Amino acid sequence: MHQPDTQPRQSIYFDYRVRPASPATPTDAPVVIVGGGPIGLTTALLLAQQGVRCRLLNAELQVSEGSRAIVFTRRSMEILQQAGVAAEVVARGLAWRHGNSFYRGQRVFRMEAPFPEDDRFAPMTNLQQQVLEELLIARIEADPRIELCWGHKLVALHRNDDDGAEIEVDTPAGPYRQRAAWVVAADGARSMLRQCCGLKLEGAAYEGRFVIADIRIDLPLPTERLAFFDPDWNRGNTVLMHREPQGIWRIDYQLPPGEDPADALAPAALKARIDAQLAMIGHAGQPWTLDWCSVYSARALTLPRYVHRRVCFVGDAAHLLPIFGVRGANTGFQDAQNLAWKLAMVVRGLAGPALLASYSHERVAAAREIVDEAGRSTRFMTPPTRGFRLLRDAVLSLSLRHDFVRPLYHWRTSRPHDYRDSPLHSGTGPAGDPLPNLKLGDDAHLLDQVAAGAVVLLTTAPRPDLAPVLQRWQARGLHCAALVLPALQRLGLAEGHAWLLRPDQHLAARWTAVDADTLNLAIAALLGGPSPC
Ligand SMILES: Cc1cc2nc3c(=O)[nH]c(=O)nc-3n(C[C@H](O)[C@H](O)[C@H](O)COP(=O)(O)OP(=O)(O)OC[C@H]3O[C@@H](n4cnc5c(N)ncnc54)[C@H](O)[C@@H]3O)c2cc1C
Repeated sequence: MHQPDTQPRQSIYFDYRVRPASPATPTDAPVVIVGGGPIGLTTALLLAQQGVRCRLLNAELQVSEGSRAIVFTRRSMEILQQAGVAAEVVARGLAWRHGNSFYRGQRVFRMEAPFPEDDRFAPMTNLQQQVLEELLIARIEADPRIELCWGHKLVALHRNDDDGAEIEVDTPAGPYRQRAAWVVAADGARSMLRQCCGLKLEGAAYEGRFVIADIRIDLPLPTERLAFFDPDWNRGNTVLMHREPQGIWRIDYQLPPGEDPADALAPAALKARIDAQLAMIGHAGQPWTLDWCSVYSARALTLPRYVHRRVCFVGDAAHLLPIFGVRGANTGFQDAQNLAWKLAMVVRGLAGPALLASYSHERVAAAREIVDEAGRSTRFMTPPTRGFRLLRDAVLSLSLRHDFVRPLYHWRTSRPHDYRDSPLHSGTGPAGDPLPNLKLGDDAHLLDQVAAGAVVLLTTAPRPDLAPVLQRWQARGLHCAALVLPALQRLGLAEGHAWLLRPDQHLAARWTAVDADTLNLAIAALLGGPSPC
């Protein structure tokens, strides 16, 4: 019998809530999501928005423990807006856009992420993952289409074929078997479903180890990323600092090669290093309290395919990414958004299972790009060989005297993906990129106007000739809508142009002129090729 921890976890800034275990009775919901981390929770909300009921299993009775994600990108905020929690995240989070890199005590690069005045969300927002999970759960608890089950642990996959899947779930009250048309594997880095399907992640693991320490301290510093290369107290290694809400700071410092992680986490060793870092930034002797510490090493891995018959992988179950560049959860939110609308179309009979192949195609391609970029930034942070270190140190030394080298410090962070070669797209212009969230008026932004989770036709004037096409698709059950906007020169939407938007806010087609037949065929192509209306 599965016995989850019933003691509240300890944190100096976060009150863990232990939930009662949910009854061990199966459901008739068509989708079961395994995993109640940020990505499983977001997938559930986006599926419900599409009218699909689901059951969400979390093996634990409380939200995640310890040092997890703290930095969420603008694109993640747009997805969280679609899931209905962005306003709360903005209210509790810390917005930022500057990063500073120091080499041997001297600032050598200042990164400034663009923040056009007409964008709704800051480039980055810091909020602890536990807080975000609670916000998503509050939203889920208000949605009757989602059954959130606490203390339900997937222990086996008994069947996975073209007719559906059957899983075994263990709970404090005993096990039960659960059938589902579809299973979403959101069960994190050690995914049991990945093991049940016999799947292996591909990519690289890196040797450098980091201590991640979250401390409460009163530091009068702005919310900016601080990266210290080769600092006096940790020669040859790297240190990062991030401010979190509620007076918490995260300090990540690289360990010298060969140091035992247990020794590194011993209280005296931790204190000496954190005090040395505080002294280096001019705050020697400042009192602090430890909230959590752990040792981390970077991996950049992905499954080569995310859909295996009736099991679809998302988030850390699908890929593992280094924390430098804040890619893990930020990539997972894009998986959730991409999968939710496609799975909903399949469950609702508007598309065949082949539509899900495009989920795998688009998101594996995105993950491979990220794995590649993450590998480069990780090699810069923790050079794996003598050759890499020589090169890295040459860049660092040169940057003390030459400006042109300094942008090399700026490793790329998580970014939205342009599904440029998606098989779902048509039209005459490039498609695949997400619609920028331009300001249209006082507290009104473009994505606020786009019906959440719908296929949307954007035009610059009413098009009564196209309305019957949308009406016929609506009669088939597709959530679609028309939106008339002023010409938006900055986006390239000129008078007479028409764009078709996917439910995940990515462009499916751009036309300088469109007729009813072309629109009809484009919607059919977007759904993976059912007969046009
Ligand atoms: C120190 C650190 C810092 C990070 N910083 C960032 C950052 O700033 N930005 C960022 O984007 N990412 C960051 N990440 C990565 C981020 O935390 C993960 O990518 C994110 O948690 C993945 O979410 P997930 O929902 O896929 O998996 P998880 O959060 O791991 O959730 C998995 C869920 O599945 C449940 N579960 C597991 N097994 C079972 C089972 N058999 N049955 C039922 N339920 C099960 C678990 O209880 C849990 O609820 C960081 C990670 C670490 C460790």
